[in-house]
Amino acid sequence: MPSSPACEILPWQQGRWDALTASPRLGHALLLAGPAGVGKTRFAHAFARRLLCDEGHGCGHCRSCHLVGAENHPDLMVCAPAPGKTEIPVDTVRELTGFLTLSAHLGRGRVIIIESAERLGRAAANALLKSLEEPPPGAYLLLVSDAPERLLPTVRSRCQRIDFAVPARAAGLAYLQSAGCLQPEEALAQAAGAPLRAAALTAPDLQMGEEMLKSLEGIRQGRLDPLAAAESWHKIDGKAAFAVLADLTARIVQQGVPGASGDPDEPRAKRLQALAGGLDLTQIFQFWDKILDINELLDAPLDRHLIWDEVFLTWKQVSSRKI
Ligand SMILES: [Zn+2]
Repeated sequence: MPSSPACEILPWQQGRWDALTASPRLGHALLLAGPAGVGKTRFAHAFARRLLCDEGHGCGHCRSCHLVGAENHPDLMVCAPAPGKTEIPVDTVRELTGFLTLSAHLGRGRVIIIESAERLGRAAANALLKSLEEPPPGAYLLLVSDAPERLLPTVRSRCQRIDFAVPARAAGLAYLQSAGCLQPEEALAQAAGAPLRAAALTAPDLQMGEEMLKSLEGIRQGRLDPLAAAESWHKIDGKAAFAVLADLTARIVQQGVPGASGDPDEPRAKRLQALAGGLDLTQIFQFWDKILDINELLDAPLDRHLIWDEVFLTWKQVSSRKI
């Protein structure tokens, strides 16, 4: 039986893996932090497999490795926010901490993985503190987060932090090509270099990303009337289009921060630099805040025309004021 590919680390993670597995002082509470789509969760599962492996190194062939690969190991518990829920509730954390105190079924210890750990509510995070500080013997807690700054400082400080970054562009492209991605360059550019995010983008997603970038460019360059842009966007699935805009705005903000570095060979980075160039950073942040505020309201019955009008008129205002 082949082991699950979701338990294999990705090629660009080898250095991180070697350092961690060779470390003589491995913590029992790890925080795997970094941007979405670079493989942190996969790394966590691979590491859990290693911790539980009968051979002690994640052999991929023993009974424990197979059970982890089949997501059926009795000493591994994985938790993530429930679909449609924004928080991991305290009851879930109590279940996890209770699980850690039980004796291991297969003898090698117990592991919990908490995905999107920044979504632990305050009560849930507090309920986790004791286990983080004094894990029961043989217990390991692997927290995974795209937004570690949103974790309670008391949670962060009790974890050994392992930072992940986007891999070199060549590594990302090689991954996408081997995964059969049809537009690897464009997908990687739109996913800000995160290969797993890029692999999840469909052709319509990519088209929408390109069209949104063109709308922002057109308005900034005075070629496109903001209300005409709004007219074309309100007809499209609002939530998906807004997610694309929110993501693009985050990239513009990144480009506007002094010292921002993008891959100079990446064509989209040049366009984003041009879009952010010469803008007042405070105003870009205000625009981003507006996008995030509207994003929170998208489930409410609002007039989509008004939303898009406001967004593009604000972009016009922000992008025409020079510092
Ligand atoms: Zn094994």
